[in-house]
Amino acid sequence: MGIRKNQSSLTASEKAAFVAAVKALKANGAYDTFVAQHRAAFMASPNDPAHRGPAFLPWHREYLRRFELALEEIDSSVSIPYWDWTVDRTTTASLWNADFMGGNGTGASRQVTTGPFAFSTGEWTLTVRDSGDTITFLTRAFGAMGSLPTQQGVSAALNVVPYDSAPWNSNSSTNTSFRNRLEVVIHNPGHMWVGGSMMAMSSPNDPVFWLHHCNIDRLWAEWQRENPTANYLPPSGTAGVVAGHGLDDPMPPWDNEATPPTPRSVLDHRALGYTYDDEPGTSPGTVSLTVGAPATSASIGEAGEVDIYSFVVATPGSHVIATQGSTDVVTALYGPDDMAAFITEDDDSGPGSNSRIERNLAAGTYYVRVRHYSGSSVGSYSISVSGSAPQPGIQTIQVNGPAVQGTLSAPNERDMYTFTVTASGIYTIETAGNTDCFLTLFGPDSQTTFITQDDDSGPGFNSRIAANLASGAYYVQVRHYSPDGTGSYSVSVRT
Ligand code: ZN
Ligand code: ZN
Repeated sequence: MGIRKNQSSLTASEKAAFVAAVKALKANGAYDTFVAQHRAAFMASPNDPAHRGPAFLPWHREYLRRFELALEEIDSSVSIPYWDWTVDRTTTASLWNADFMGGNGTGASRQVTTGPFAFSTGEWTLTVRDSGDTITFLTRAFGAMGSLPTQQGVSAALNVVPYDSAPWNSNSSTNTSFRNRLEVVIHNPGHMWVGGSMMAMSSPNDPVFWLHHCNIDRLWAEWQRENPTANYLPPSGTAGVVAGHGLDDPMPPWDNEATPPTPRSVLDHRALGYTYDDEPGTSPGTVSLTVGAPATSASIGEAGEVDIYSFVVATPGSHVIATQGSTDVVTALYGPDDMAAFITEDDDSGPGSNSRIERNLAAGTYYVRVRHYSGSSVGSYSISVSGSAPQPGIQTIQVNGPAVQGTLSAPNERDMYTFTVTASGIYTIETAGNTDCFLTLFGPDSQTTFITQDDDSGPGFNSRIAANLASGAYYVQVRHYSPDGTGSYSVSVRT
């Protein structure tokens, strides 16, 4: 899953990769197609599918994700960074350096003359412009039209519920419409502070558009996380709502696609394949499950609801996450210790329409997301996590004894071993065989305290760790180098 990072934390090479991918899209024409889509949305006013209405956030989420997927086709390592203007709010922020967005406009024309998007590079000519606009270079006028949102302003906006309110447009009260508050009080000033090209209907001509909107999308995701029971509003068919802004309305300009995106289809940003670097490891709505405990009852009480669970694996080994009941739920597993690290997803591997995930899991905290197979259905279910019974336990390796035979029989399998050090000294842990094993050593007296790891220091593709160990119990995890790899091996510990 792609992680969208704060632009201020990007390394020089990450900035260079983003810039290069953006310029590659500009060179092949795709970039200008995106600019034209944004301009066309505004020009459809009063039927703008993207602004001044409830779908402002969903439309831009879909739009940014499509742009991000286009960037990923150029360079799979690239995600859209976000610009947190509550922190990076000066004209000298590193965002504006010549290795990234370039600086402010200069002179009467407000032309941007520094950085990779300066007209003089010959690679950033504005070809899609608002009607009557003949300026073909990027322009900026920092601060000329107002100031950037503050942290207080953002906090106040995040406290507004419901999502939106009648009349479902730019006249919705900013005290009863989170969407209009975010759009008008937080989002618009970002465009205005940068000024120049960012003021136009063709504002994506300035690449900072994507970083600005990425932050808006992050704030929506944060609001969703803090208000898990507050739904998108309004439903499709609500009187006076512009087409594209109802929950299940296809969103133009993608409404002619076989499966057009709707506001509902983008509510879960993780399901779209990305997350934000500041999302907490646990959310307030997370329910904890205990391995081996009776099933926990729950329900998908509202269409589109996602229930989140966590559980702790203390003893590595095979675990089963299963749902029970007559509701067709889909279960996705994440971890260890990372809510965004997708492992697998299952719909119907259990009895009836229930989901069942069986997996060898290392020690750590895991997260389960449960949703209804149908985005418009509700129903009750229960969920349980069990360790494999009988628990195979952890095999013991005798120091200087015979090698222990093992098999990695399933993708992502992790075999765990232990050995005891009674006299401190150098110990060599080594695999043998034709399987490309990967060794991780933990201890002393802990299955989770990382010491070191190795891939290929042994003969062939075998692993070898030589470590100076004090007395205590140590744990060796063996996995395949490849997540999909399987094969047999042996593992030994020698002094
Ligand atoms: Zn827009
Ligand atoms: Zn905007």
